[in-house]
Amino acid sequence: MRSRTLLPLLVLALAAPLSACAASAGDGRPTVVASFYPLEFVTRQIAGDHVRVVDLTAPGVEPHDLELKPRQVGEVADADLVVYESKLQPSVDEAVAQNAKAHSLDVAPLVDLEDRNPHFWLDPLRLSKAAAAIEARLAKAEPSQAHLFAANLKTLQDTLAQVDQQFSAGLRDCERRVFVTSHDAFGYWSRYGLTSEPIAGLSPDAEPSAQHLDQLRSLIEEDHVTTVFSETLASPKMADVLSHDLGVTTAVLDPIEGVAKGSSADYVSIMRANLAALQKANGCRVSP
Ligand SMILES: [Zn+2]
Repeated sequence: MRSRTLLPLLVLALAAPLSACAASAGDGRPTVVASFYPLEFVTRQIAGDHVRVVDLTAPGVEPHDLELKPRQVGEVADADLVVYESKLQPSVDEAVAQNAKAHSLDVAPLVDLEDRNPHFWLDPLRLSKAAAAIEARLAKAEPSQAHLFAANLKTLQDTLAQVDQQFSAGLRDCERRVFVTSHDAFGYWSRYGLTSEPIAGLSPDAEPSAQHLDQLRSLIEEDHVTTVFSETLASPKMADVLSHDLGVTTAVLDPIEGVAKGSSADYVSIMRANLAALQKANGCRVSP
């Protein structure tokens, strides 16, 4: 009798690792699907070559309005782990709810979102928290590499802490504290004493209305703002109108929602470029 009850258990035990491997790259590595660039960046830094990392949001695509292709819905279902931020990309939320609940990691509840602002990764310390959670799940998926993942996490967290210190020190002594942006993505930099003034309702490609220009004009006069920031892909037409009509400079801040195709920049280099742009616009004393 005993052997009869044991047999199905044995079959189950043998079958489980096989089905877990169905998702792997065919070379034995687990596959991790990241839903957009900052999560992909962090996952790659920790995993090195030991995990196949897939980014659902292609370079140059705006992650907010990502629509998953059927092939990508399949990748979400088959992955060993899906790393995503709920409420940022509805089509990813849907694919996870339908096919990946048991093998997903939602970073939203882990990073202490402020005012429901999803752009937590612009705060390096919040991104560092997400990294720790990702590392724990990677170690579970590939226990033989757990030591390496832990060491890579440490290196990454040191770098992110350094970026945070550079922002703190680099924005300590500024002539102005207000910066004007088109897209409401930069609120997390309030921790460095800056106030972002997004031009409400103005999408990166929209032409500014007379009303928006008026709003900008009074803001710029009151706060002696010298620069209006647009995003990486903002229309040059808007920048032209603004610099002509309001006598201010335009410059670009990158919300790091993705990296342009073919670019060698990464999260860290883009954050440093953002810091330099903020220091220039706000008259911050740059330490040698
Ligand atoms: Zn955004």
